[in-house]
Amino acid sequence: MAAMADRKDELHTTGEHTSAAEPKAGTHTEVAIIGGGVAGLSAALVLGRSRKRTLVIDAGEPRNAPSPGVHSFFSRDGMLPADLLRIGREQLAPYDSVQLRRGRVSTAERVGDRFHLHLDDGGVVTTRRVVLTLGVVDELPDIEGLRERWGHGVFHCPYCHGWEMRDQPLAVLGNGAEGVRLARLATGWTRDIMLCTNGPATFGHEERALLARCGIAVHERRVARVDGEGKGVSGVVFEGGEMLPRAGVLVRPPIHQRSDLPAALGCALTEQGVIRTDEDGRTSVPGVFAVGDCASLMQQVAVAVGQATRAAIVLNNELVLEATARCASATATRN
Ligand SMILES: Cc1cc2nc3c(=O)[nH]c(=O)nc-3n(C[C@H](O)[C@H](O)[C@H](O)COP(=O)(O)OP(=O)(O)OC[C@H]3O[C@@H](n4cnc5c(N)ncnc54)[C@H](O)[C@@H]3O)c2cc1C
Repeated sequence: MAAMADRKDELHTTGEHTSAAEPKAGTHTEVAIIGGGVAGLSAALVLGRSRKRTLVIDAGEPRNAPSPGVHSFFSRDGMLPADLLRIGREQLAPYDSVQLRRGRVSTAERVGDRFHLHLDDGGVVTTRRVVLTLGVVDELPDIEGLRERWGHGVFHCPYCHGWEMRDQPLAVLGNGAEGVRLARLATGWTRDIMLCTNGPATFGHEERALLARCGIAVHERRVARVDGEGKGVSGVVFEGGEMLPRAGVLVRPPIHQRSDLPAALGCALTEQGVIRTDEDGRTSVPGVFAVGDCASLMQQVAVAVGQATRAAIVLNNELVLEATARCASATATRN
């Protein structure tokens, strides 16, 4: 009977987070998810339903916050990003295995077979597994009028905003092979495209000829500002004052990790600067998973949710199989 009770404790480890109070400094959890955007909340749902003590720590800066609507996400098309996250958090409430904590993890380290996470507020969380769902930051070009229209008239992803710009005059801001590619992709939504290279074009005759055949014009003068009413775009103004009437600007800025935690933990990055993982979200550091934008170049809500679900299942399987292995060896020792 006692052996049975031990086994139950080993296998069903929920309960440490059942208090409604915020976890205090020195919290121990089985899984800590750092980042409470769509990826983090999705992973928490699967892990919570799997009865894993799960703590989500979130600084509250999701990448798509400026956007008026999440598009291309099945059953939620056009929903305000903040509403999507609010519903996600509400649907975690019935699971006493999950706790949400507002805060920022400033650094993290492995200590033995645990990870210690240090929060800005002085709190320390120890955990057996870490899921990084940190997101990324867009490095917007320093052009007057661009930042305040980001996510509205100025956008980076035709799958997110292209439909709203269909058949409209569009400026694609980019240069080199990437700029040419982006302009070509944009033809799927509109044929009225001006590729603004913001300085001399860095692509050759072949690309120029290809663009011309696709009906894409090229403008090489430096862009002085983006004009428009409110968050909308009415045109691009070049140095010298020439104004090109446009309804939108498509630009694909470089990105960087939102947090130094991947480096602190020793996670390898890809050449493109996202966390290197296998197809199940395992990073180069055993016990640390990473999913969503911080670990993928296909940066979409649906993709982040799918990756998070997959990683959470794999992680839970690992923990349960480890626990059953410990039970088996404990039983063998007793016998
Ligand atoms: C303007 C814009 C519009 C977009 N529109 C769409 C769209 O219509 N459809 C679509 O599918 N995709 C869209 N995207 C892409 C979408 O935003 C991302 O794919 C999605 O947000 C990725 O989710 P995530 O959970 O990986 O990261 P995020 O949503 O960025 O969430 C990461 C969270 O981690 C937190 N965090 C980071 N570091 C720490 C730390 N050290 N401690 C604690 N918390 C931390 C952040 O504060 C943030 O809350 C858009 C992106 C942008 C920029």
